[in-house]
Amino acid sequence: MTERFIKNEQFNYICKQVAFIKDSTKQHIPPGVLATVYDVSNEKIMNCVPDMSAEQKGILDFSRLKTVEEYDLAIKKLDAYRMPFPTVTEQQLKKLFPKSKKLKLPDLSSVDLKCVTYLSWNDSRSNKKYLLYELDMQLVGIECSFSPSPRKNTCSICKCQSEVTYFTTKTKERHQNNPDYFRSIGNLICADSHECNKNITGVAYLETLLRDSLRK
Ligand SMILES: [Zn+2]
Repeated sequence: MTERFIKNEQFNYICKQVAFIKDSTKQHIPPGVLATVYDVSNEKIMNCVPDMSAEQKGILDFSRLKTVEEYDLAIKKLDAYRMPFPTVTEQQLKKLFPKSKKLKLPDLSSVDLKCVTYLSWNDSRSNKKYLLYELDMQLVGIECSFSPSPRKNTCSICKCQSEVTYFTTKTKERHQNNPDYFRSIGNLICADSHECNKNITGVAYLETLLRDSLRK
């Protein structure tokens, strides 16, 4: 059996392409144009996971699918190939955030880790957000401060319109003019990371943010 190889954001991306195909099927567009829509979306699906084996490529080859039902079934079958977010131990957490002595992992018993690109939770008592992600095969984490009042805007990570909060994170880079301070980065990010993980289709911004925050 093929190993799990589809990450949450890649699965969301595939679902988005399939939703586009299904939507186009409902429109009264000429068959030739519709065939092109199918081809373009199928091609995007085939290329959304880098460095796939021939077997994995076969799993994401939707080019023979004709009907909405077939696409729905194909999406369902992908469940067996979805990769969960790695399990995080309390020790790993302590190592990532040595200064936050009382920090505990959130209760993940009701969380489907297959639906997680980045693991994040808010500590409303301290107005802190913790964000964990596997960057270059290594678990990394950042701590952000946030303003408690969410507002409707575009999230920097998932690019969707949602209830976002302004998060700031201190980088490890010292301020140019005042070396006593560290440079901060501010971002509008979904207040609810569960929603963000449902919508995220790419990690370019998230990875840039993390690299930028963690660079010494
Ligand atoms: Zn978001």
